[in-house]
Amino acid sequence: MQDLRGKTALVTGVANKRSIAFAVAERLAQYGVSLAVAYQPADEDRDEKVRKIIGEISPDLVLPLDVTLPGSLDAAFATLKERWGRLDIVVHAIASAKREELGGRTSDVSLEGYVLAQRVSAYSLIELARAARPLMGDGGSLITLTYIGSERATHNYNVMGSAKAALEANVRYLAMELGPERIRVNAISAGPIRTLSASGIKNFLDLLHNAEEKSALKRNVTQEEVANAAAFLASSLSSGITGQTLFVDAGYNIWG
Ligand code: NAD
Repeated sequence: MQDLRGKTALVTGVANKRSIAFAVAERLAQYGVSLAVAYQPADEDRDEKVRKIIGEISPDLVLPLDVTLPGSLDAAFATLKERWGRLDIVVHAIASAKREELGGRTSDVSLEGYVLAQRVSAYSLIELARAARPLMGDGGSLITLTYIGSERATHNYNVMGSAKAALEANVRYLAMELGPERIRVNAISAGPIRTLSASGIKNFLDLLHNAEEKSALKRNVTQEEVANAAAFLASSLSSGITGQTLFVDAGYNIWG
C-alpha cells in the first residue's frame, strides 16, 4: 500500500487490544500512515491503560473523544488542525447501546435507549464527516463499521439494528454529498468478532457459532481481516468505490 505512506488518519474507537479500531490503526501504521488514535475517556486508571495500549503503535497523537460530551469532538479536531492542518482518512468505529435494550424486546425499547444508540452509533458519523471535511481539501476516505443486523432481524441486536441501518443510510447520503470533493464514504460490515462491544450482546457465542456454520468459508473473521479491508478502502486502490457497504464476514451474508 505504497500510496498510504505519509497520509494522515484519525482512528476512533480503541478500547483495548481486541478493538477492531486497534487492528485498523496497527495496519495503517504498518503502511506508513501518520496516526491520531482516539479513545473514549472514562477514569484515570482505564485511560492510562488504553493510552499505553495505543502507545504501542506509536501514533503521532492520542486523543480523548466522547461524542456525547459537548466540545469533545471540536477539541480533538482543533488538535488535528494544529498538528497536521489536513486529514486524509477517518475511521469511525464507535457504537453504544444499553445492554438491556440489546437483549430485550424491540417493542420494549425506550425512547431514551433508542436515541442513545442512534446518537452514538449513527449520528456521530455525520459529526465526524462535518468536522473532517474542512481538513480534507485533497480528498479523503471515511470508513465506518456496521453489522448485518441492520438489514436482517438478528437475535439480541434490536436497537442496534436500527442504529446500523441509519448508519448505512448516512454512508450513502454522505457519499453523495462529499463525492464532488473527492471524499469517499464507505462501511465495512464485519462478521461477529469477540470484542468489548460484542460482549454486551446476549448469547454472542451463538452468533459466532451460527456465522461459522453458515458462512461460505465456514469460519469467523478476525480483526486483522477487517483491518485489511479498511486499508484497502483508505487507499487509492479503492478510488472508484464510495457509498458502499463491504461485507467482511467470510461470506455469511450470501447465505439463503
Ligand atoms: P469495541 O468495544 O472495542 O469498540 C467500540 C468503541 O466505541 C469503544 O472504543 C468505545 O469506547 C467507543 N465508544 C462508545 N461510546 C462512545 C462515545 N460516546 N464516544 C466515543 N467513543 C465511544 O468493539 P468493536 O467490536 O471493535 O466495535 C467497533 C465497531 O465495530 C462498532 O461500530 C461495532 O458496532 C462494529 N462492529 C463490531 C462487530 C463485532 O462483532 N465485534 C461486528 C460488526 C461491526
